[in-house]
Amino acid sequence: MHAVTPETTALVDMVLDYAHRRILGEQSPLDKPMTPSELRRLASGSISETGIGGRRALALFENVLAPACITTDHPRYLSFIPSAPTKAATAFDLIVSATAVYGGSWMEGSGAVFAENEVLDWLGREFGLPEGSGGVFVQGGTIGNLSALVAARDHRARALAAAGRPRPARWIIVGSAEAHSSIAAAARVMDVDVVAVPVGDSGMLTGEQVRPVLEQHGEAVIAVVATGGSTNFGIVDDIASIAALKSAHDFWLHVDGAYGLAAALDPASRHRFAGVEAADSLIVDPHKWLFTPFDACALLYRDPEIGRLAHTQHAEYLDALTGASDWNPSDFSVQLTRRARGLPLWFSLATFGAEAYRAAIGASIDLAHAIAADIAERPYLRLVRDPQLSVVVFEREGWEPVDYAAWSAGLLEEQRAFVVPSSHAGRTNARFAIVNPLTTLDDLTGILDSMA
Ligand SMILES: *Cc1c(COP(=O)(O)O)cnc(C)c1O
Repeated sequence: MHAVTPETTALVDMVLDYAHRRILGEQSPLDKPMTPSELRRLASGSISETGIGGRRALALFENVLAPACITTDHPRYLSFIPSAPTKAATAFDLIVSATAVYGGSWMEGSGAVFAENEVLDWLGREFGLPEGSGGVFVQGGTIGNLSALVAARDHRARALAAAGRPRPARWIIVGSAEAHSSIAAAARVMDVDVVAVPVGDSGMLTGEQVRPVLEQHGEAVIAVVATGGSTNFGIVDDIASIAALKSAHDFWLHVDGAYGLAAALDPASRHRFAGVEAADSLIVDPHKWLFTPFDACALLYRDPEIGRLAHTQHAEYLDALTGASDWNPSDFSVQLTRRARGLPLWFSLATFGAEAYRAAIGASIDLAHAIAADIAERPYLRLVRDPQLSVVVFEREGWEPVDYAAWSAGLLEEQRAFVVPSSHAGRTNARFAIVNPLTTLDDLTGILDSMA
């Protein structure tokens, strides 16, 4: 299994050939899920004492298992948040595996950690964080948010202890009622409470709405979470007005930009993120709108030392690492062993340059606004909110939830598009999330036509 033999050589060639075809061949179809019983019938029995051999296993993947996975980088995959990795990022992901880099410590992975940190530094500068900010690439936004909020609580707990004051009975996280579900999930893991502040029609959380919560709960507040591009609507909270409360209140500002903060790279949208430079921590997911394969989240701390204090694991077998003053990525989040998952972004960014990223992100925002204008002109459709970034939400007049469901299933059945229904305030709607530069206006108008 481990030696280089004619057999393992053939196996590697076969796998790389498949990857080559998938990355560079004609567009993979959208594909669709199969039922467990279909898959049991078509794909059971691959695990045995003697093995079925690489050729059969790969054929099983190519012919049965892969077609039972929706193609998330398809230009007409428009649900949730699609993926749209660059060719460079996807190809380099193979190298991350091939080189067996350990990304958790400087001692083991200094070159990789250096390159990842170059990217984190660059992101920090783009968002206006001060010199010395830093962090780590983690698996996804959920772990990024959790890690940041744990650091925020640790920081507050240490401050209270240093001042000889007791901890509050319950810790509190403040966020918008439209914040991502991962904030509530983090709160459950941490066993803390969430104050979900209702937002008006605009969908934007503002400092005015946050102020009374800070006045009421004071130092029990671990953090205020501002969303930099909500997942449902792509709406950016009024971060500047929330940040302005820092002059009167002592709180940790976390910006959840898993999907949307990438848009701050687009000069035309940068203004929407005013105030992000005051963040104590922030996240942005490269696997969403920075064009890398799954899975990666960039987590940045204004003062990384706070993250390190909160997260460093201590163990005898780790003393050789934690005793040194090195920059060990594992020290900044809820994880130890880590893939150098920032490297595909590093390679792609180094290859194509930031300008290509700005242009690609800006183009998706322009496309979202163009299709929103088209929707507004169709009498049978109604925009739920004007888009800010690249999410467009709209209703079909007269449709019930079953109509949306049937239409959505039909689109996938015909392999035309993947657009699942969403909802807002109890009303079902349709939603486009656009991050793929290969998505065209024609793709989108074709889908609107299918709702006439
Ligand atoms: C997607 C998303 C998350 C969660 O990120 P994962 O990478 O899916 O864990 C958190 N917040 C926002 C705003 C998101 O869009």
